[in-house]
Amino acid sequence: MRFDIISVLPGLLESPFAHSILQRAQKKGISEIVVHNLRDYANNKHKNVDDYPYGGGSGMVMAIQPFASCIEKLKSEREYDEVIFMSPDGETLNQGIANQLSIKKNIIVLCGHYKGIDQRIRDMYVTREISIGDYVLSGGELPAAILVDAVVRLIPGVLSDETSALSDSFQDDMLDAPIYTRPADWNGHKVPDVLLSGNAAEIEKWRFEQALERTKQRRPDLLE
Ligand code: SAH
Repeated sequence: MRFDIISVLPGLLESPFAHSILQRAQKKGISEIVVHNLRDYANNKHKNVDDYPYGGGSGMVMAIQPFASCIEKLKSEREYDEVIFMSPDGETLNQGIANQLSIKKNIIVLCGHYKGIDQRIRDMYVTREISIGDYVLSGGELPAAILVDAVVRLIPGVLSDETSALSDSFQDDMLDAPIYTRPADWNGHKVPDVLLSGNAAEIEKWRFEQALERTKQRRPDLLE
């Protein structure tokens, strides 16, 4: 699976993909993450990517031309399943959306900045708009990194234990059960006996009950 991320601050996207699971996914050739510097596509002398808003008001607006040139170039090279714009007014990212996207082949992600991007880019090119929550950040880079992380870890072969993504929170509209590691007794704070029992069926039953209880208490909306 390939992500092409278009950004005016590509440096912000270096570290998130250079470690741990995302790095491994790329090394294994399971996913390819390519970051494009929007400025490289601006065909004006000063490499400007923004301009003043029509109608006045504060904040600069990202102009059409650099995004259009970059998107057109990418589309001439391969077919894309989605062109996603990270935007606070998009649908809120959740595990269901991450699952849907994890079976796609090629995805373009647009990162906004300043006041946002010219509406016509959204009208002409964008197939899906995704928010990471009801708050406003300075740019779409961190949201894009979050989206890519949530999606790539779901692709089969990325996590070393393939079943581990399936037992994560939200995967069955349930939160995850409590987890423990050694030592079994930390100053009297003990690991639940069942986890030391070696009885796989009992452990699975306990985990399910714990997950259900946690979901009832913290996120009853998931069970509706
Ligand atoms: N004026 C816009 C916010 C612009 S913030 C509005 O009120 O909706 C600048 C850019 O940061 C946005 O274009 C978007 O790409 C990104 N961004 C900010 N908050 C975000 C969020 N919660 N989810 C996804 N992207 C976000």
